[in-house]
Amino acid sequence: MGQSCIAESKMEALILGVAQDGGVPHLGCECHNCSDAVHTGLHKCAVSMSLINSANATPEAWLIDCGPDIKQQWRLLKQHCPKAGVQGVFLTHLHMGHYIGLYQFGKEAMQSRGLKIFCTPRTAEYLNLNQPWKYCIAQGYFQIMIVAPGVQVQLGHGLSVTPVEVPHRQEFSDTVAYSITGCSGKKLFWCPDIDSWEEWDLDVREVVESHDMSFLDATFYSPEELKRRDMGDIPHPLIPHTMHKLQGLGSKVRLIHMNHTNPVWDPRSIQSQELEKQGFQTGVQGSVFTL
Ligand SMILES: [Zn+2]
Ligand SMILES: [Zn+2]
Ligand SMILES: [Zn+2]
Repeated sequence: MGQSCIAESKMEALILGVAQDGGVPHLGCECHNCSDAVHTGLHKCAVSMSLINSANATPEAWLIDCGPDIKQQWRLLKQHCPKAGVQGVFLTHLHMGHYIGLYQFGKEAMQSRGLKIFCTPRTAEYLNLNQPWKYCIAQGYFQIMIVAPGVQVQLGHGLSVTPVEVPHRQEFSDTVAYSITGCSGKKLFWCPDIDSWEEWDLDVREVVESHDMSFLDATFYSPEELKRRDMGDIPHPLIPHTMHKLQGLGSKVRLIHMNHTNPVWDPRSIQSQELEKQGFQTGVQGSVFTL
């Protein structure tokens, strides 16, 4: 962490955020975790990861997910690798915390030229038909790059990204996770949102076993977290269930996409102690994985 990308390793994944879409603090919330984030000034960004390839003189970077905290995450990327040039963004799906930051690349802000937006055909259709995305595409700020589940996208020097379809409520688009392979052959799995492991046509244990590190949906620890909303309306696998399914594989997992209500944000909570006991960890904003 913190070392420059000129170090021996030429490929890295930098974790830019591990919170659920609304981040921590959540708008209008004064819960324990949100108050803590306000008082310490340690805001937790929505889930996002950057892949950095420093093989060339000008390092290339890609974002996976681009939510409302992109400005803070951009600074984090630049602190880690000042010369990184962002080539494109891989979208998992069209919920706020995963794509709304794209608007910062539009006319009122960065006005990028041909920023590549990698997404599924259904996501592309939505962006092509709906404003303000339609305008950004027509003006050439964005260039849509369609990806298909199971089809590898080559990013050069042995870095590749493959979409994997996952079940998740489909208001505007379908949802994918991403399997990433670096030049060393190391593999990462990025799955911030899934309704349940059981509804998936892949076995989560096999997926974790076949990757060096898997970043998995850990939105909620227990149904009691939601006081005003029905969990059936926003289904996610609960952390104890995920740990049970992945028993013994904790060192290959980083839990991400934690809701602001999740007790594992507090390292002193009994739930955090339970995680530690079972050999699991939450992902950390700013952490780096060599690829
Ligand atoms: Zn999400
Ligand atoms: Zn809160
Ligand atoms: Zn979602």
